[in-house]
Amino acid sequence: MNIVVCIKQVPNTNEVKLDPVTGTLIREGVPSIINPDDKAGLEAALRLKDSIGAHVTVLSMGPAQADAALREALAMGADEAILVSDRAFGGADTWATSTTIAAAIKNLDYDLIITGRQAIDGDTAQVGPQISEHLGIPNISYAEDIQVEGDSVIVKRQYEDRYHTVKAKMPCLITALSEMNKPRYMTPGGIFDAYREKEVKVWGLKDITVDQANIGLKGSPTRVFQTFTKSLKAAGTVVQLDPEESANYMIEKLKEKFII
Ligand SMILES: Cc1cc2nc3c(=O)[nH]c(=O)nc-3n(C[C@H](O)[C@H](O)[C@H](O)COP(=O)(O)OP(=O)(O)OC[C@H]3O[C@@H](n4cnc5c(N)ncnc54)[C@H](O)[C@@H]3O)c2cc1C
Repeated sequence: MNIVVCIKQVPNTNEVKLDPVTGTLIREGVPSIINPDDKAGLEAALRLKDSIGAHVTVLSMGPAQADAALREALAMGADEAILVSDRAFGGADTWATSTTIAAAIKNLDYDLIITGRQAIDGDTAQVGPQISEHLGIPNISYAEDIQVEGDSVIVKRQYEDRYHTVKAKMPCLITALSEMNKPRYMTPGGIFDAYREKEVKVWGLKDITVDQANIGLKGSPTRVFQTFTKSLKAAGTVVQLDPEESANYMIEKLKEKFII
């Protein structure tokens, strides 16, 4: 069984702070990590590899530094790593990103494709379902558990107030939630192998078959017109009242703002 896991290298947004004077984001020194949903997807693929046997390929589209994310995935136990990287792919919105990734996946054998539900930087949750559309395969999103039975996957899919158990024939694309599992650590031997023995293949424009009208900035139907930081919230008020008065005070404040 062949599993392709799409991983995106993202800035660790938990560590991005606001400059209190300028109100802008402080990005310096913010470490890059594998997007959390993607790491859970990778762990799910590695557990399938452990239990029923699978060849796990990790694929990332991004600049040269995304190599580190792919080597981390190799050190966790992935078998093969592909970096889809070319100036022509830069400035892509979700349409151009998913077109490029789907074109790269067409070069591979796959039964199952796993992406994260959402990347913590772009936050759109569009790329996974778009890849499945490009490839013409079913998509099950919001996965909290993935089992394989014969030629099908059985997925526990999260909704706001319930779960559904969904079965689909492979090939199929699943988008994973970080709640699904606790990803394993890299092993020391795995790290050595990832840097000394294993290769991260780099595929550029010449290595994939794709309509150039649908890639990169030029092939992106959407453009970011402006980005800005949200204004800082005003300081709160501290009141010293007895418990009953405090409760009434809070209720009045919530009513004033039409929250209740
Ligand atoms: C309007 C708009 C304009 C943009 N313009 C630019 C731009 O000019 N320059 C720029 O750099 N970015 C730009 N972006 C960001 C870029 O589109 C996104 O980073 C990219 O499309 C992925 O979308 P996302 O982060 O929302 O991922 P999501 O859709 O939230 O990701 C879902 C899953 O898809 C997979 N995935 C997503 N991206 C990748 C990847 N690169 N490699 C492997 N797997 C992946 C992961 O498994 C991820 O968990 C733009 C985004 C928008 C919405």
